[in-house]
Amino acid sequence: MNHVYYDSDADLSILDEATVAVIGYGNQGRAQAMNMRDSGVHVIVGNVHDASWEKAEQDGFEVYTIAEAAQRASILCFLVPDEVQKDVYQDSIKAVMEEGKTLSFSHGYNIRFGLIIPSPTVDVVMVAPRMIGVAVRQLYLQGSGVPAYVAVWQDASGLAREKALALAKAIGATRRGVFETTFAMETEIDLFMEQAVWAAVLCVFTIAYDLLLEEGYPPDEVLLEMYVSGEAAEVFKRMSGIGFFKQLHLHSRTSQYGQLTRSRRVFPSDLRDTFKEILEEIRNGTFAQEWEEEKRKGFPLFKRLLEEASGHPFNEEEERLKKLLASGP
Ligand code: NDP
Repeated sequence: MNHVYYDSDADLSILDEATVAVIGYGNQGRAQAMNMRDSGVHVIVGNVHDASWEKAEQDGFEVYTIAEAAQRASILCFLVPDEVQKDVYQDSIKAVMEEGKTLSFSHGYNIRFGLIIPSPTVDVVMVAPRMIGVAVRQLYLQGSGVPAYVAVWQDASGLAREKALALAKAIGATRRGVFETTFAMETEIDLFMEQAVWAAVLCVFTIAYDLLLEEGYPPDEVLLEMYVSGEAAEVFKRMSGIGFFKQLHLHSRTSQYGQLTRSRRVFPSDLRDTFKEILEEIRNGTFAQEWEEEKRKGFPLFKRLLEEASGHPFNEEEERLKKLLASGP
């Protein structure tokens, strides 16, 4: 069982003398920066000079280039996209990561796969909210927070965990519950969910759509039933609120019987082996290597797959359907 921390386990005073630089004012960066400032932390922002820079200024932050913010801060919350972190670290951060500083991530990817190797004289921690940025902000403003993970990769100061917990408290996460983990565990589970579970969902919905249309069913009804009505989103919400199986009682008995009897049949018997293979590729670094190589070549496969996905008939049909729904009866 993971150890879980709440407000009373974290002490914000460890951040009293700190300047925290939020590097990357995007989904997480904006939400975390605003929450930390409202919690009384001195926050500055480091970003490339673009629309996000302007936004941070409009939100009232002092904004600097990434190198300058990194230089001014004692704690860096590194919140640029994972696939650019390695280059940004090399170009703008490595040189100013002096002894005693703290580097905090919201996802363990670059550390887990050795793409960033910080100096042993700095603390390296993770504070990873399990939620999109807008909700991190929204729930904080409502007096609540989102669950999060904390992990310590490197504890040079002897106070790395205390600092991570204070950052978690400052973004509101200890109001809900902060689970202790490791960089490896957080990264591997996260990638597995994306590459096995969500990949299966993409595949299942596409197969179902193609089959039902081939069998003469109308696209409107198929898409409404699958996800456009919002019922599927509601079911996921109930899974987290009531329970994965307990929410079955909200469906008709016919639906419950159909789901329970057929769930054992619909997936190929070797699915478990495929999932295991995917997990192994994550663990042994094959996926990280493949993604680095794809990045080096300028993302040819990624671009082609995105293009194929945006060309799927789903896209046109759902636009048409959304308009029908918006016009209403
Ligand atoms: P975003 O895609 O929102 O981007 C963050 C910021 O990085 C933006 O300000 C962006 O600028 C800037 N940026 C993009 N490319 C570069 C570059 N090449 N050099 C310098 N700056 C760049 O990131 P997220 O907030 O989604 O992710 C940040 C971290 O948080 C990641 O580690 C991610 O795994 C983690 N995380 C994200 C969650 C989420 O909900 N999105 C949930 C939990 C963790 P611009 O906007 O101008 O492009």
